[in-house]
Amino acid sequence: MKRQPLEPALEAIERQHLRRRRTTVDAYAEPGSHASVIVDGRRLVDFSSNDYLGLAGHPALAAAMAECAGRCGAGSGASHLISGHGREHAALEEELAAFTGRDRALLFSTGYMANLGVVTALAGRGESVLLDRLSHASLIDAGLLCGARLRRYRHCDADAARRLLAESTPPTTVVATDGVFSMDGDVAPLRALSESARAHDAWLVVDDAHGIGVLGANGRGAVELAGLGSEEVPVLVGTLGKALGSFGAFVAGSQALIDFLIQRARPYVYTTALPQPVAAATRAALRIAREESWRRERALALTARFRAAARQAGVPLTGSVTPIQPIPIGSARAALEAQQALLRAGFWVVAIRAPTVPAGEERLRVTLTAGHDEHQVDALVESLSRIRAPA
Ligand SMILES: *Cc1c(COP(=O)(O)O)cnc(C)c1O
Repeated sequence: MKRQPLEPALEAIERQHLRRRRTTVDAYAEPGSHASVIVDGRRLVDFSSNDYLGLAGHPALAAAMAECAGRCGAGSGASHLISGHGREHAALEEELAAFTGRDRALLFSTGYMANLGVVTALAGRGESVLLDRLSHASLIDAGLLCGARLRRYRHCDADAARRLLAESTPPTTVVATDGVFSMDGDVAPLRALSESARAHDAWLVVDDAHGIGVLGANGRGAVELAGLGSEEVPVLVGTLGKALGSFGAFVAGSQALIDFLIQRARPYVYTTALPQPVAAATRAALRIAREESWRRERALALTARFRAAARQAGVPLTGSVTPIQPIPIGSARAALEAQQALLRAGFWVVAIRAPTVPAGEERLRVTLTAGHDEHQVDALVESLSRIRAPA
């Protein structure tokens, strides 16, 4: 748009109840935990973070970060390919490869950049990229940036994906999906997608930002839950700022894939390496995630408790069985009002509006974590049932 006053555009966004505002967390209510926060002098239980294992505020992560900062300082000083790649990065990559059962892993600064890097390295002009209609924005942006023809199939519909693959001109070289969908909490049909992708020599990219650490017998995510190995899912993207409580992301796959990404993934090559203390904190998180399986069991048990109580109380739910529990509302205005009512009751649950979800599908997005307790979950359901009651 040409240069002009922006206030009218902002007012239009406001009128549609779509203006976004930030809330500042002034402090955490209890040391070592992020489950409850202080905002404007009030204590709120945070049911909106992605801190599924309750690790973001864990003292072991902070201690690892501080210890590493004492040795390595705050900044890495250069990109990984120049002089910014350190021991902590190398060790974390090895541990992530072992954790995911892949040959190698490559650290990226964010999940957004990992998706841009992978898709732009593996697809380009004269090819097609196939995405789930509800894919994360970073996958959509990656599909647009790479220059390939971008096509989207109906959400979680593996048959629709198969049909598009079969008739695809130009040929599809990348099929990409979230493992667990960030705003819906449902799990992609990974086995069927992998069969179709393999039959057409396409790379299957699974972005498991919300599954890593949470799903599967060992917390290895949606891919482990589906019983798929690196042959079926050759490109696995994971993020470190959600269940693992720190920051950053990784791609795991074969030796050749990782070598290729180091050559061709521009969001890897042309950016400063993550601070080493962040990698050190992530290593501590990975150790805890491996050793304390009760954390993911607890997040899932609280999820089951939330669903049972909500059903009992007449609170609408979706089919999601992961810690992401959307409460369908249907309009931006009503979703905002529900968010306000919950804030008054002491709960921080965020209204998710267009364009993050399709217009008309506005919702509250509740997330359960290992840092919550049964009483908090029951009290949240009680408040939800009251705001849903007719006025
Ligand atoms: C959060 C998220 C990302 C982005 O990860 P960041 O590390 O926060 O940039 C990518 N994909 C999905 C599905 C996500 O939910």
